Amino acid sequence: MTSEPTLTIVGTATSQGVPVLGCDCPVCTSGDPRDQRLRASVLLRNGTETLAVDAGPDFRTQLLRERVHSLAGLILTHEHNDHTAGLDDVRPYCFRQKIDMPVYCLPRVAEELRSRFAYAFSDYPGVPRLDIREVGFGEEINFNGRAVTLLEVLHGKLPILGLRIGDLAYLTDAKTLPERTLRQLRGVKTVIISALHHQGTHSHLSLEEALEYVERIGAERGVITHLSHRMGTAAAVEAMLPDKVRCGFDGMRIIIGRS
Ligand SMILES: [Zn+2]
Ligand SMILES: [Zn+2]
Ligand SMILES: [Zn+2]
Repeated sequence: MTSEPTLTIVGTATSQGVPVLGCDCPVCTSGDPRDQRLRASVLLRNGTETLAVDAGPDFRTQLLRERVHSLAGLILTHEHNDHTAGLDDVRPYCFRQKIDMPVYCLPRVAEELRSRFAYAFSDYPGVPRLDIREVGFGEEINFNGRAVTLLEVLHGKLPILGLRIGDLAYLTDAKTLPERTLRQLRGVKTVIISALHHQGTHSHLSLEEALEYVERIGAERGVITHLSHRMGTAAAVEAMLPDKVRCGFDGMRIIIGRS
């Protein structure tokens, strides 16, 4: 057992998940457990504390798999459904820990939560009690004595949160990294970055573009996540990646070093 903080990737799929419902493609019918991908999310652990990054439709399953007994809070990278739809499932932690769950997000995302989860802000008994903490780019969250720095990532035109903790960065739903963010990433050893599939879209990096960013950041290693079934099987993707880049899989754990 290590006392160093860790990051566990608990979901590596794009919004529909892999397998995609009703799809008979070789990826969606693969017997390789690495090809079973829940919606993109990571858990940070430091000592006895756990911080979740995003709460998509698979949030409950992810917390069950990782046997998370208590939750210190959540960072929501942005408001899209594949990152927020599971938020109601913080309720057992609110009840047991007798807290309003801290939720760190941009002001725009906070506004969206107050309308989409309006019941959570009512007096009705049993609702998830959320302690919304609006944050901005460049701010730090103190996570049990370690700083989590919030970075600006452009998801198409939408500014969303990425994060850096020690020598590790998590950049999901990325299309463009502003210059300031690239400066804040100096010295990062491991970068986990989204890569949708081989083409990319207006709001998501292609595999090729994600690999270029791993190089530009100067990271020793990269891990790709937020993958579409159109990317290919984990085995096929691993075979085409450069040595220092791995294809992320659900359950992948990385030790976080000092920067
Ligand atoms: Zn498929
Ligand atoms: Zn998104
Ligand atoms: Zn997404």
